[in-house]
Amino acid sequence: MRRIHEQLGLGRVINARGTYTPLGVSRSSEPVIEAVAQSLRQFFDMKELHETAGQKIAGLTGAEWGVVTHCTAASITLSVAALMTGREAANIQALPDTSSMKSRIVMQAGHLINYGQPIEQAIRLSGAEVVVAGSRDNCTEKELESILSCDDVCGLMLVHSRLCRGDMVKAEAAIALAHANGIPVIIDAAAQDLVMADILALGADLSLFSAQKYLAAPTSGLVLGKRDLAETVHLQEGGIGRGMKAGKEAIIGAVVALQQRGKMDAKAWAGEQARKAGEFVRGLNRLTPVTAELVPDPMGNPFSRVRVHLDGESCNKTVPEVEAALAAADPAIIVQDHADMATSLMFEINPLTEQELEIIISQLAVIVFNRPPDGMRRRNIQEW
Ligand SMILES: *Cc1c(COP(=O)(O)O)cnc(C)c1O
Repeated sequence: MRRIHEQLGLGRVINARGTYTPLGVSRSSEPVIEAVAQSLRQFFDMKELHETAGQKIAGLTGAEWGVVTHCTAASITLSVAALMTGREAANIQALPDTSSMKSRIVMQAGHLINYGQPIEQAIRLSGAEVVVAGSRDNCTEKELESILSCDDVCGLMLVHSRLCRGDMVKAEAAIALAHANGIPVIIDAAAQDLVMADILALGADLSLFSAQKYLAAPTSGLVLGKRDLAETVHLQEGGIGRGMKAGKEAIIGAVVALQQRGKMDAKAWAGEQARKAGEFVRGLNRLTPVTAELVPDPMGNPFSRVRVHLDGESCNKTVPEVEAALAAADPAIIVQDHADMATSLMFEINPLTEQELEIIISQLAVIVFNRPPDGMRRRNIQEW
């Protein structure tokens, strides 16, 4: 099953951290894997592939048009570029020199996230300048409006993520404010593809999703929105977007992953995730110094994570010690980064199998009591 790990001598990983790039993000379904494998054997007219993908993505998402880029970081840079250049080839080739274009992008301070790079850098890479509204804790409509009406503003960038901080202007109100001032809006909703319809309903001019996160396509970014503007994002491949293009396998993988999502019974999926999470919690709670509970996704995605507290009296290890021991185990078990790392462990388990969840419980027992839990067969981890 993990022949590639053996072939290359790579360590084995159980990713309980979520759709996290440094751990390989997600697991693709067989139809996606099969389509990608086929695409790698063939040539395509890439212009036709982009055109067809645009139509299919529109049909599958309800957006007017869709374009595939290398990833959401690329989509951020190229969407900002599109707002600055329009369809003008001379402008597209001039970037990152923006001297003939409006080039200021407004962001609220609490949206200045770092997803592995600071989002401002993905914007600045296009040549644009970021102007910030409000403080880290707070941004009012008045503060946002006063920055939106500065000279040379070409767009508002919003972020919809659990990484955002503070009390910012809500997306609907921010979009209404920008549109009332004639300013287009981009929304970075990279990890929100499970609630894509809700994001699209907000009415941003461009909505950005990573296709490799919950959608589980090969690494690629979906840019959804008005056809003219989305196509202008694609035109950036004749400029700074050359190094951010999606290959044939990514475009085909993203389209097939969206088709699979369209066929998915969302209720049944959520039910299965809830059942698995419930069983994991019950298994964990059989370990005496451990209390596990379900934590619903704060962004309204249809799944819960599992939070684990250790009982300080009967457990002689701290939470960070247990986290480090899990990460050092074979297979390495990587938990989620969350707000109170010092007092609890958080597991995101959607893509994990029951066998992998048993390995987690078993490893936790070994770390906490130096032995596997009573009544639980120690799975042969070597064979997993
Ligand atoms: C993951 C993420 C990104 C980066 O997406 P990539 O597709 O990995 O480039 C950007 N913004 C947010 C909010 C994210 O969660």
